[in-house]
Amino acid sequence: MTIGLLKGVNRSGHKGWTTEKCAICGTTLDFVQGYDLKNIYYCPKCVSQKLNAYFCAADARTLHYKCPYCKSELKPYYA
Ligand SMILES: [Zn+2]
Ligand SMILES: [Zn+2]
Repeated sequence: MTIGLLKGVNRSGHKGWTTEKCAICGTTLDFVQGYDLKNIYYCPKCVSQKLNAYFCAADARTLHYKCPYCKSELKPYYA
């Protein structure tokens, strides 16, 4: 696995360290590059249920850091 980026990630639900698309605007969120990891938000609950619940920072802010699916709090991928 990669360099200590697994903090807070639900291992069972994650399909790998590649890219995801923001569920709102479709922006590609790059988990590999690392440079914008802190701009990626996700819902641990939905991701663990294999939903695409990743969000760019702008949309996370728009959503007031609440998951649009289950209303739980979004977490930064890398804090
Ligand atoms: Zn977005
Ligand atoms: Zn959720």
